[in-house]
Amino acid sequence: MRSYSLIAPAKINLYLEIIGDRPDGYHELAMVLQSINLADKIDIRAIGIETIIVKCDHPQVPPDAGNLAYRAASLLSKQFPDIFARYGGIEITIHKHIPVAAGLAGGSTNAAAVLVGLDLMWELGLTQRELQELGAQLGSDVPFCISGGTALATGRGEILSPLPNVEGLYVVLAKYKNLSVSTPWAYRTYRQEFGHTYVSESSGQESSRERVHSGPIVSAIAHHNNSEIGKLLHNDLEKIVLPEYPQILKLREAFASQNILGTMMSGSGPTVFALTESQAQAESVQAAVKATMADPELDFWIATFNPNGIAIAH
Ligand code: ATP
Repeated sequence: MRSYSLIAPAKINLYLEIIGDRPDGYHELAMVLQSINLADKIDIRAIGIETIIVKCDHPQVPPDAGNLAYRAASLLSKQFPDIFARYGGIEITIHKHIPVAAGLAGGSTNAAAVLVGLDLMWELGLTQRELQELGAQLGSDVPFCISGGTALATGRGEILSPLPNVEGLYVVLAKYKNLSVSTPWAYRTYRQEFGHTYVSESSGQESSRERVHSGPIVSAIAHHNNSEIGKLLHNDLEKIVLPEYPQILKLREAFASQNILGTMMSGSGPTVFALTESQAQAESVQAAVKATMADPELDFWIATFNPNGIAIAH
């Protein structure tokens, strides 16, 4: 086929623990990542000229080499120059539904979709592992976005252990339209404030990873204990972001006062989410928080957990 449409789901962090520093300058992390069915649609099409074109009507999404989807296509075209020449270039159209710069891995999931789509369109026959290794060159969240579902992510976030699917949970998400939090700032500030707690590789990062792997949230997921999952949500970056952004703290408090299983900021924010056990409850939480906050700058979404990552759109 000369064209493919792919569904690219967003992710939320159910758990994010910063373990220590890595020799490459990144942080060593232990995260539980979850795909949700708030998703972009990505169309890829072979075109007659040997170039990469990105189209997206969202003003904050760069239509050029700054786009992670472009970089995914460029990476594969360099790996397989003969095939790139034979198919004569690619046009990528991004239909954005995931809020941009939200801590929901929007760019990463678009890049993941391009890798999966080009593997199919160019009949490369790459394994998921091979696609994830390529994806890790583009960003730490890209490998997870390819396989999706529920997973424990360690290293920079690129080392994945699949976890059992979590069923029967609904997510209410909220984000201020024009608020963004710099991810590098959040990690840098965390290092400044909490660097003294860091575990070095020699003194036990492996045991920290194992502690999370055999710890309560992974156990709650394995036992399908949804109310426990809600109680065990955790994100170290909240310690940095919430004191600096009172709006996000207030939003989180508004969710916390509702009848929910748990609430948390996703990634480095600014999106805050809450978990509920039914669609009806999610809708009533959304209505209540919307009414309490009464702010036209605040956008809301309701989603469910998604059992997979990139999928072909039918
Ligand atoms: P993460 O959770 O991985 O930190 P994010 O969800 O916070 O990511 P993105 O939506 O990926 O953030 O956007 C971060 C920046 O990347 C934005 O400033 C945006 O301009 C740029 N960007 C590049 N490519 C894309 C893309 N395909 N979709 C969205 N943003 C993109």
